[in-house]
Amino acid sequence: MTASQPPVRPAARAATKPARAAAAPPPGGAKPVRKAKAVKARRPEEVRAIFGRFQAQEPEPKGELESVNPFTLLVAVVLSAQATDAGVNKATRPLFAVADTPAKMLALGEDKVRDFVKSIGLFRTKAKNVIALSAMLIERHGGDVPRTRDELEQLPGVGRKTANVVLNIAFGEVTHAVDTHVFRVSNRLRLAPGRTPLAVELGLEKAVPAEFGRHAHHWLILHGRYTCKAIKPGCGRCVVADICDSTDKRV
Ligand code: SF4
Repeated sequence: MTASQPPVRPAARAATKPARAAAAPPPGGAKPVRKAKAVKARRPEEVRAIFGRFQAQEPEPKGELESVNPFTLLVAVVLSAQATDAGVNKATRPLFAVADTPAKMLALGEDKVRDFVKSIGLFRTKAKNVIALSAMLIERHGGDVPRTRDELEQLPGVGRKTANVVLNIAFGEVTHAVDTHVFRVSNRLRLAPGRTPLAVELGLEKAVPAEFGRHAHHWLILHGRYTCKAIKPGCGRCVVADICDSTDKRV
């Protein structure tokens, strides 16, 4: 369900492109540089209409990473950086069958964890992090996964996006983990225009109506992964095509 960090690529067209910072006026009384026009976020009723369509299409969206408890979810998300969910699931099924708690993971040891996850990119670093975070969970949290972003972010290999995924899926918090899909869709649909994942996340916090908060990030991921793709968006089968005014739209 998660994906790699969003590339902050230079978008080819204006509607997808978040606002640029205005350049400083040139010295010496030269003609002032015109400010780039900021991309305007949608009005609340439009945001509500968009999420209403997503909800009608998929009332109970689920993440695609497999896990059996908060700990295995945390490990799966840590392993998923720059990897596909399918690839992670393939590696974690046998791993979680033998190690579904921090204590069992620690007992398994880094070498064996590395063997289980060697099909995943950056597996050496990730195996090291899985062992280190297991040790820290035991040492600081009695073997439980903490429920605050600050505590989660102190765990090895855990950044803001991972913490947001865990808080949302494991503990039902309204958080918006911004991966490459969420970043793209939020900008194309002007739900939360922003140049960085954090700007988009904070924009979503403000824009997403409370009743859609819990599932918003899943809907945006699924929409970006299967319909509003980066290169060839499937606008012909998009449930919000009539609302979308992105210049990336192809209908
Ligand atoms: S119409 Fe196309 S560009 Fe707009 S949200 Fe739908 S798939 Fe994406």
